[in-house]
Amino acid sequence: ETVDLGEVMHQIADRFEMVNKDKNIHFDRQFPSYPIYVDMDRDKMIQVFDNIISNAVKYSPDGGTITLQMVPKSRDVDIEIIDEGLGIPKESQNKIFDRFYRVDKARARNLGGTGLGLAIAKELVHSHGGYIDVQSVWKKGTTIAVTLPYSAYKKAGGGE
Ligand code: ATP
Ligand code: MG
Repeated sequence: ETVDLGEVMHQIADRFEMVNKDKNIHFDRQFPSYPIYVDMDRDKMIQVFDNIISNAVKYSPDGGTITLQMVPKSRDVDIEIIDEGLGIPKESQNKIFDRFYRVDKARARNLGGTGLGLAIAKELVHSHGGYIDVQSVWKKGTTIAVTLPYSAYKKAGGGE
């Protein structure tokens, strides 16, 4: 299935803004104005970004901003989910994509979850020829970067 990433990301951001009204999270959307097509199961694509964005919301302060940035490269597109929340200590960063791994048992217990979200996201991204990475500074925030290849069938309206 060929999916316009911008459309999917707008829908997800709208939904998270609605559901988290009391937390007053704002999504700063930095997307190109033209469609970015990737080949992927739409529901799985939504599951990947739901997982990543729900983490960003969970670990952001009330009234926080989450930046959704889409950067088209020559062969693939970079999607970054940038939060200004709790951050992840350096020694934990390579483990957060492991099944059942959660950074801090105490904080994890308060905030709920199973520790499967990012493991599933990684599996789905890899099975679609992409990759996923984390950059984080403890107490400053976290960026999760997903890179996905463009659709083999549809070219973007802009770019080359
Ligand atoms: P689940 O997604 O199954 O509900 P979870 O959110 O705890 O549970 P993951 O999404 O796999 O599990 O994330 C693993 C751990 O990585 C989290 O428990 C959290 O400690 C840390 N983490 C993930 N994203 C962020 C983020 N944006 N900011 C801070 N910590 C994060
Ligand atoms: Mg999660």
